Amino acid sequence: MFYIGCHLPAGKGYLHMGETAAAIGANTFQFFSRNPRGGTARALDLEDMASYNRLADELGIGTIVAHAPYTLNLCSDKAHIREFSQTILQEDLERLENIGRVVYNLHPGSHVGQGREQGILLIARALTDVLNKGFRTPILLETMAGKGSEIGGRFEDLARILDLVGAGCRLGVLMDSCHVFDAGYDLAGDLDGVLDLFDRTVGLDKLGAFHLNDSLHGLGSKKDRHAKIGEGKMGLSALVRIINHPRLSDLPFNLETPNDLDGYAAEIKLLKANRS
Ligand code: FE
Ligand code: FE
Ligand code: ZN
Repeated sequence: MFYIGCHLPAGKGYLHMGETAAAIGANTFQFFSRNPRGGTARALDLEDMASYNRLADELGIGTIVAHAPYTLNLCSDKAHIREFSQTILQEDLERLENIGRVVYNLHPGSHVGQGREQGILLIARALTDVLNKGFRTPILLETMAGKGSEIGGRFEDLARILDLVGAGCRLGVLMDSCHVFDAGYDLAGDLDGVLDLFDRTVGLDKLGAFHLNDSLHGLGSKKDRHAKIGEGKMGLSALVRIINHPRLSDLPFNLETPNDLDGYAAEIKLLKANRS
């Protein structure tokens, strides 16, 4: 099954997102769990969540992706930001217990000068705490472009965190094609090589979802600027190879390209036509 969708505005609730996804030919989608630059959440609407679950079953919508706000930083140098981040993370997971098929997408964090190792330790500690509460929804750490002091720009960062948290937890990785490429892994020129490296470092079995984006800047630029499919430095054929790769083809693919709904509908159609 090919699960393809895009980032959608969450303002009108789950049922509305499900209907919007269906209208643009998507069978997965992504949304911000709450205000991406603040932390405020919509009122909890259990009715809306239940209606969405029914719609998702009816329409065959697969696993959807709740993206954490950008303001979370589990490895901030400020204790109150770390605490805020962990509280939000936990609250989001509590709410997501009401959604049938969903994963939680989190940027690992930025160590803001404390050093990579300290950052990794703080992230692992916070995640261990939250994962011990036993929520159903898996947390997927996103592969990052490696801007500034971002953790997760190297596969080893993610491997270390997973290792520290320990096996058997609902913790995995979400791969963002633009970020991986910008981080210096040539997903466009050597897909098999990068996937082999990821497999040896992190494990492909840990991969739970994919962000499909072209990149405005070149390999290793560390810029993290998404481009429309086929209009960036990766190119359409590279992205088509990704959606058709036998080791990736069952993952939910979501677009985070600079598009309105019509643009997303067109990219979804293009990718469906290129799925073998
Ligand atoms: Fe992200
Ligand atoms: Fe992303
Ligand atoms: Zn990005």
